[in-house]
Amino acid sequence: MLTGFVTGAEAHAFAALPAADQRAAAVAQASRLFPMLPEPLAFHVTDWVNERWSKGCYAALFGPGDWSALGPTLTTPHGLVHFAGTETSTEFFGLLEGAVRSGRRAAAELLSA
Ligand SMILES: Cc1cc2nc3c(=O)[nH]c(=O)nc-3n(C[C@H](O)[C@H](O)[C@H](O)COP(=O)(O)OP(=O)(O)OC[C@H]3O[C@@H](n4cnc5c(N)ncnc54)[C@H](O)[C@@H]3O)c2cc1C
Repeated sequence: MLTGFVTGAEAHAFAALPAADQRAAAVAQASRLFPMLPEPLAFHVTDWVNERWSKGCYAALFGPGDWSALGPTLTTPHGLVHFAGTETSTEFFGLLEGAVRSGRRAAAELLSA
């Protein structure tokens, strides 16, 4: 099974394509990368932008300078509220590893509070 992502502006253009064109575009891309691939037996698209609880994929992206400006605020406790989540991680931002590391950081903050 192969999984791929269409991100940014291309995601909106891809989402607007008919299903057959989505499949043709994905198969063409996969074939360019792996010419030995056989024709797929099945093809599935999840539109994360329009998925009710996700509304996007697959992580928040900051623009240039945003992390430097906003990062300290994202990770600073406000009263009794401590923030965790992959978007607050200084490493592996946007990935599961970043989420785990931010959870450890927040847990350590609580233990020492
Ligand atoms: C399609 C897709 C593919 C991905 N693939 C990979 C991959 O291959 N490898 C990888 O490392 N990462 C991948 N990621 C990213 C990874 O899933 C995230 O980085 C990770 O799940 C973030 O964890 P988190 O704990 O920060 O946030 P989340 O997992 O988003 O957890 C936040 C939780 O808070 C809950 N919540 C929200 N609002 C409230 C509220 N008001 N009250 C109570 N609860 C609330 C939500 O329901 C959710 O359960 C992928 C993400 C997507 C969407």
